[in-house]
Amino acid sequence: MGYVFGPVNSRRFGLSLGIDLSPKEKSCNFDCVYCELKGAKPVKSIPNPPKAQDVIDEVKTALKKFPNIKVITITSNGEPTLYSELDELVDGLNKIKGDKKLLILSNSSTICDKSIQDTLSKMDIVKLSLDCATKRCFKRIDRPLKEIDLDNIIECLMEFGKVFKNTLVVEVLLVKGINDNIEEMQKIADILQRLKPDRVDLGTIDRPPAYDVKPVKEENLEELAKLFKGLNISLIRKNTPLKKVDFTKDELVELISHRPQSGFDIEHFFSAKSKKVLEDLLKEEKVQKRDIGGTVFYTIPR
Ligand code: SF4
Repeated sequence: MGYVFGPVNSRRFGLSLGIDLSPKEKSCNFDCVYCELKGAKPVKSIPNPPKAQDVIDEVKTALKKFPNIKVITITSNGEPTLYSELDELVDGLNKIKGDKKLLILSNSSTICDKSIQDTLSKMDIVKLSLDCATKRCFKRIDRPLKEIDLDNIIECLMEFGKVFKNTLVVEVLLVKGINDNIEEMQKIADILQRLKPDRVDLGTIDRPPAYDVKPVKEENLEELAKLFKGLNISLIRKNTPLKKVDFTKDELVELISHRPQSGFDIEHFFSAKSKKVLEDLLKEEKVQKRDIGGTVFYTIPR
């Protein structure tokens, strides 16, 4: 037992109950430089996997104890899609989850497997990682098993994006000196503009990494985020600027049409006057409020 943890307050998904399918050891087919777990040789499967029914029973008990959680997150000390009974687990959780959302955090490595795509299609929210668009970068940051091919992953992401009906989130994690350059990010932005995920979570290292790598400065993240035109970008910023910004109606419409603003943006960067302008735009239906995978965004109605 001990497969369920939390609840944890996830900044991007809300109050979440976590499921760790490999609580005793790291089981991943990547060995990312930024991993918050200790570096380990990549593996193909989760050794000693739990029985799906045991995990489901544990979640059932936890749901009674924490009725207010918003999401049930399938994760692992590694890559959850390597779990042999994932499909059975997802079916069982869908039966007991009630109004909670079912979320999985995957590194995208198994997305070419049709049976994995079928299982992921039963989730409310699928969050997939894409840190690199070029093989060299992929090898340096994600350090995958030899047989994992980035071009295949990108092709299969496109296929999955076409069939997946629920909320698709893509996470891009930036590492200083490796993928934080305009060329790499432009290529990722091009891929994501074709994929059109519901949300893109752009972030950097915020916990001690497995290897000696450094996070990217917030101002650089902000700059690189501008490449992802037309996508709902979620940026987590730690250092809130002191000055909040005043926007006129026109400026705000312009800003939101280029880059949808998250609830976090509004809270931390908008002055009281700008918040009032936003309220007016909402009333006039020139801006709409949407919940995308647990994060509020303000967008222009299409
Ligand atoms: S995919 Fe996740 S668990 Fe696996 S090595 Fe990378 S960060 Fe760690």
